Amino acid sequence: MNYTITLNPAIDRLIFLDEKMESRKTNRITDVAYDIGGKGTHGSYAMSKLGVKNIALGFIGGLNSDKFQRILDAKGITNGFTTLKGQATRECYVVIDHDSSGTTMLTERGVKLSRNDVDTFMTNLQKTVKAKDRVLIAGSLPQGFSLEDLKRMIRLLKEIGCFVACDLSGDALKLAVEIGVDFIKPNEFEVKELNRAEENIVTTLQILNQKIPYIVVSLGKDGSYCIHEGDVYRVKSPPVKEVNDTGAGDCFVGAFLSGLTKNYSIEETLRLASACAASKVMHNDSTTFNLDEVSDLKQQVEIIK
Ligand code: ATP
Ligand code: MG
Repeated sequence: MNYTITLNPAIDRLIFLDEKMESRKTNRITDVAYDIGGKGTHGSYAMSKLGVKNIALGFIGGLNSDKFQRILDAKGITNGFTTLKGQATRECYVVIDHDSSGTTMLTERGVKLSRNDVDTFMTNLQKTVKAKDRVLIAGSLPQGFSLEDLKRMIRLLKEIGCFVACDLSGDALKLAVEIGVDFIKPNEFEVKELNRAEENIVTTLQILNQKIPYIVVSLGKDGSYCIHEGDVYRVKSPPVKEVNDTGAGDCFVGAFLSGLTKNYSIEETLRLASACAASKVMHNDSTTFNLDEVSDLKQQVEIIK
């Protein structure tokens, strides 16, 4: 089974405006849509859409859990979130205005975990996952969940014998690299934090590849490169009309894990992930992609070894 862990998910309220958002003006909302934020859930959505069974795990607040669950159900995401009584899952506001070059996001801090919440989660995780399961840890850490806790969780999963994928940034990414997980996908900004000044980036990644079997560095519309078994693959994305690139990386990660689960070759896996992410960019929320577009875009992905 595949699992995703989103420790601090969000209910994204997408607010559409016909005109550019301005201060000192009444900005009229033309449409509102809901989505789940927090990264791991996006990976779950991509896997589910590609027919790969998976369960989304993490923490949600009890106060608005009905709303959260309704969105997950509508998106077809099988899940087993741990509910925290008396707390609310954070709500994020994503303003998408017409013709603007990017979206504006307003984000709450989210749930706060007690020691007992963390311990119970680890115990349940240990009972749930089995050797060979694939587990994706993605997104930010909530209050009360320390880097030490992350270390404990990754170690636990590795001891069980899981394939551990991490889409993390900053110190959490550094930690995952230090421990040596199975897959990381930093973007062009996140990877800079891993680079030791004296080395060029490809050399750094080739050294890292000795303990991290799958490394992808994503470069937005410029595609990505992947380092696997010491080989470097340069992947060029098909040109698409970009509507909203938020979640492209999460979609890539979910599709990449789907490819591995289906025993695709590394090239086929990269082709699938790049096509799904390119399709996602053409849609206005952070998860949606279209399978017809994917089969078309797959032909246009260029991979140079
Ligand atoms: P997020 O954190 O919002 O999910 P990210 O910063 O982690 O995104 P990106 O590097 O922006 O990830 O994008 C991931 C992948 O999505 C890229 O490697 C590429 O394959 C695809 N992609 C992103 N933007 C575009 C685009 N404009 N056109 C085509 N493909 C794109
Ligand atoms: Mg990302």
